[in-house]
Amino acid sequence: MKRAVYQNEEIKIIECNVPKLKGLGAVIKVYGCGLCGSDIVKIREKKDNPILGHEVVGEIIEINSKTKFKVGDKVALGHHFPCFKCEYCKNGSYSMCEGFKSTNIEPCGFSEYIYVTEGHLKNTVFSVPKNLTYEEISFLEPLSCVVRAVERAEIKKGQKVLVLGLGSIGNLMAQTTRVYGGKVYGYDINEERQKYSKLKFDPNIRYNVIFMTSGASASIETALKYVLSGGKIVVFASVKDETGYINNDIYYRELTVLGSYSPAPYDYKISYNLLKSGKVKVKGMSMNYKLDELSKAIQDTISNKIMKAYIEL
Ligand SMILES: [Zn+2]
Ligand SMILES: [Zn+2]
Repeated sequence: MKRAVYQNEEIKIIECNVPKLKGLGAVIKVYGCGLCGSDIVKIREKKDNPILGHEVVGEIIEINSKTKFKVGDKVALGHHFPCFKCEYCKNGSYSMCEGFKSTNIEPCGFSEYIYVTEGHLKNTVFSVPKNLTYEEISFLEPLSCVVRAVERAEIKKGQKVLVLGLGSIGNLMAQTTRVYGGKVYGYDINEERQKYSKLKFDPNIRYNVIFMTSGASASIETALKYVLSGGKIVVFASVKDETGYINNDIYYRELTVLGSYSPAPYDYKISYNLLKSGKVKVKGMSMNYKLDELSKAIQDTISNKIMKAYIEL
């Protein structure tokens, strides 16, 4: 089978063996996989042999499991799940769990076949709903990350929320915020993205909650300028340098600056229902590429030519 690897600062498509069942778990024929911002970060940081691709849709072709899934089931899935037992898990910080960080799909999402464990089947695998395309349900994992961030922000009905950065994540964040009762505004320096989002930016408003989905360090200053004193800034992207929030701003303005990283299994369930019910719409947000066009998909994402890439296997 074919799979993508990133070695010596280059994406290559190589031949390798189809993964085998190891005890419990399933082998899945991959139909497609979304390209995530975190894949781009791994490439930008020039990590050797990173596991790329985790927003997978496919079909179960072999299974040994105590779950309801069976051969022939079409599924969407994500890659990490927590142990539910450690100190982090007990405190609800599931994405900090060692088990969470070490679990993954094998060999990677940009691969014709993958192996997933019983833990995945129990926590991060969902049946493809009849009313959604494979490409649409591939948003399951990224949307669950967004759900976690919106839940952590504890938005109150009618609060003014500003989404900074209107790429695919910003758009999901805006739609999800609306479901949770927030009045949404958005800002992106890219005019096309601003237009596509149909969101307005009002510089005269000070916002209760600001979601930082942009990885540009300059947006920190923007967030500090536009957050209402007493409000919240939710950090949802890594920045290249060590810039951060100013102690005295946080103190004198009673700001809450909080991070949200990856989703818990609970967030997957909410995300699944938001997509299935059409409360969050993703139609037309991504562009299709073939596996051997992965490099191009990465370039087009980095240069903001597209919002999001979906790699067809
Ligand atoms: Zn992702
Ligand atoms: Zn744990």
